[in-house]
Amino acid sequence: MFRSVLCFTLLTFAVPSSAQSSDSPPVVLAIHGGAGTIERGNMTPEREAEYRAALEAALRAGFAVLQEGGSAVDAVAAAIPPMEDAPLFNAGKGAVFTSEASVELDASIMDGATLNAGAVAGVTTIKNPILAARLVMEQSPHVMLTGSGAEAFARQHGLEEVENTYFHTDRRRETLRRVQERERSESGFLQTDPEAWQMTGTVGAVALDQNGHLAAATSTGGMTNKRFGRVGDSPIIAAGTYADDRTCAVSATGHGEYFIRLAIAHDISARMMYLGESVEAAAHTVIHDKLTDLGGTGGVIALDAEGNVAMPFNTSGMYRGTIDAEGNVTVDIYRD
Ligand code: ASP
Repeated sequence: MFRSVLCFTLLTFAVPSSAQSSDSPPVVLAIHGGAGTIERGNMTPEREAEYRAALEAALRAGFAVLQEGGSAVDAVAAAIPPMEDAPLFNAGKGAVFTSEASVELDASIMDGATLNAGAVAGVTTIKNPILAARLVMEQSPHVMLTGSGAEAFARQHGLEEVENTYFHTDRRRETLRRVQERERSESGFLQTDPEAWQMTGTVGAVALDQNGHLAAATSTGGMTNKRFGRVGDSPIIAAGTYADDRTCAVSATGHGEYFIRLAIAHDISARMMYLGESVEAAAHTVIHDKLTDLGGTGGVIALDAEGNVAMPFNTSGMYRGTIDAEGNVTVDIYRD
């Protein structure tokens, strides 16, 4: 594949971009920390600084891997764990609570070079679910493992396990209390307004490596007060995560039921493949037309094999950041 001979230096000179100015270096890693109601008025300067620092740390962790010649899969697998470990995000420690006041985690990863993919859903003891998803991709013939089976598989492969209480935080417990209180007083379980679910904080990463390969990864606790073994889009390949070297790598965040129904991540890739759209045009249409028209909320990060990035969302904010081939970091939170 011609792209496999590209290196960062060459990319620096060779990349036209719809999403960046033509002389800016290609983006090699983009991350998100969830979309939702994120407004300046509700944010303290200290909290904002914490988010910015956590996003930058994740970008630098993934970038270090790329700089050493690591693959895009290595890079997304390095960028996600710092965010899973940070209680700020709805993934790993600090994930949202189910209706039973426990934490159930979902994660997935996809390699754009091979279209291999791995995912875990409804896991309760794996400290870093993204590492389990990667193991499923690389060490099993399957794409998705769920619950206790996924945990047994991760254990066999020596992944770190923790008590479910490790993931618990007072902040998420308080959110569950508020959501359940509202549920009792309003339309309850049938409520589709994401505000009622108090989501935000899912994490995702997309990367482009020195050989021109793409990868995507997503990790989440899902939505507050979820029940009955609910699984969202994040561990579903084509909905919350997708990567194909011929088009783009995508990680999504938002109201998962809509992302599943619209196969959001794959739809962006398919528009690029079949319609010849740019990553920016494809991602924009899928979020601002298709998702919005159906009544869904959220956003995506999408990166093509030339380092063009698009990060559209239809909520008031999305934690997000990029790092380019020269190591320049950009972090943003709000819509404007
Ligand atoms: N997409 C996730 C889910 O529905 C939630 C989120 O991204 O905030 O499980």
